Amino acid sequence: MARIYLGKILLRWCDSCHAPVLGRTCACGAPTRPVAVTPPGDARPAFPGDIERVNRIYHEHFGAPLIPEGHLALLNKVPSEDRMDEIVVGGAVVGAIRYIPEEQRWEPLPRPNAALLMQPMKRYVVVDDGAVPSIRDKGASVLAPGLASIDPAIAPGDPVFILTKAGECIGVGRAKVDAATAEAMERGVIVRTRKNVPSICVPGRATWEDAIKANEQILEEYESASIQFVRDVAAKNPLPPTISYSGGKDSLATLLIVRKALGPAPLLFADTGFEFPETCENVDRVAARYGLDILQISGEEAFREEFERRGPPAVDDRWCCRTCKLNPIGRLIDEHFGECLSFIGQRKYESVRRMQSRRVWRNPSVPQQLSAAPIQQWTAMHVWLYIFREKAPYNPLYEQGFDRIGCYICPASDLATLGMVSDACPGLWSAWCERLTRWQEEQGLPPDWVERGLWRRRGDADEEGDSYN
Ligand SMILES: [Zn+2]
Repeated sequence: MARIYLGKILLRWCDSCHAPVLGRTCACGAPTRPVAVTPPGDARPAFPGDIERVNRIYHEHFGAPLIPEGHLALLNKVPSEDRMDEIVVGGAVVGAIRYIPEEQRWEPLPRPNAALLMQPMKRYVVVDDGAVPSIRDKGASVLAPGLASIDPAIAPGDPVFILTKAGECIGVGRAKVDAATAEAMERGVIVRTRKNVPSICVPGRATWEDAIKANEQILEEYESASIQFVRDVAAKNPLPPTISYSGGKDSLATLLIVRKALGPAPLLFADTGFEFPETCENVDRVAARYGLDILQISGEEAFREEFERRGPPAVDDRWCCRTCKLNPIGRLIDEHFGECLSFIGQRKYESVRRMQSRRVWRNPSVPQQLSAAPIQQWTAMHVWLYIFREKAPYNPLYEQGFDRIGCYICPASDLATLGMVSDACPGLWSAWCERLTRWQEEQGLPPDWVERGLWRRRGDADEEGDSYN
């Protein structure tokens, strides 16, 4: 997969505080070191639901959990066929989890540093001492003559740990054959070793409170720059200020900034009819907590009509944003203001399109709305540390392992996420699948069109449609 840079990777680590730091020096005074995450590098905290999932995947495969208790863990989404997240502990990528859509399951992809955190109880091979240097130092494959023993559970394709007779991990890789075959082999490759980039891992216990402290000054700098931006935009554009609130973390951080910069401003919320119940609750909760009005509009009826005509929205035919968000928001603005200034939680680290977006702009579909992005330069870690610092009521879906909160039927979602939707809200998801199935039958589409998620893509047209936070 191509490496995508949306900005400088800002993630670094303090080995004294055992915490992520978004600058070269930690608040404790210690210098920080870079964390070698794959770009774009918009890492986020691993929440309890994420940790539970990662540990379950590692436990099932290796007989031991990866993320130790009391340690800060981060997840970093990387480009892949469907969904893959790197796992950062101790300032190093210690592994990844990758979703395999055809098998509807996750596989664990450990890095050698994982062995600093866990002792694999299964799916490992032990090699003779003579084979160690070439495997450890040159990334050579594990060959039949160098094999001392192999765990009987190993099947071809399995990710495995490569250990010495003394139990030291010298590499990781993928088994080429099953255990029985390997034991009978006299020559040939048993494990294809993963080329390893050496990295430093210093495990240690810390809390998110420690991480906030470690980033104290950085958070203040980002906050005051964003507050200044909001004041400048508002001064240059004397329009009624509003906050586009979606129930997600970025719009929550934006709300906190705008409130500090300008005082209370109403929330604009377009309910597409496909919001998670937690999202609607969060909108109410946030409005109540900060004493803000909610200007809400529903796009549900418009969605129904458009679906009848065109079928479900797709990544390359994303009519839903215009129909359920942009147009209704335009009507809402007409009704209340005529014209307004809206602060939106757009960030450049989200996508190429967002990176290229200006920080103040007008969407041609909603000319009566001047949009501005106070946290354009923030990474997801800035956003989270800031939300934690402010003890703001964020959407509980993040705790369950969702990393983006939008419509639960979003065609831009990967299948891993849609699987999580189906687990979290089986009733809502099956109602959507019934709707898709009716369309599939009416249009004579292939029988696996719904099940394999083919509805998410029409064909070959432009990748992204209108988008809106
Ligand atoms: Zn420190």
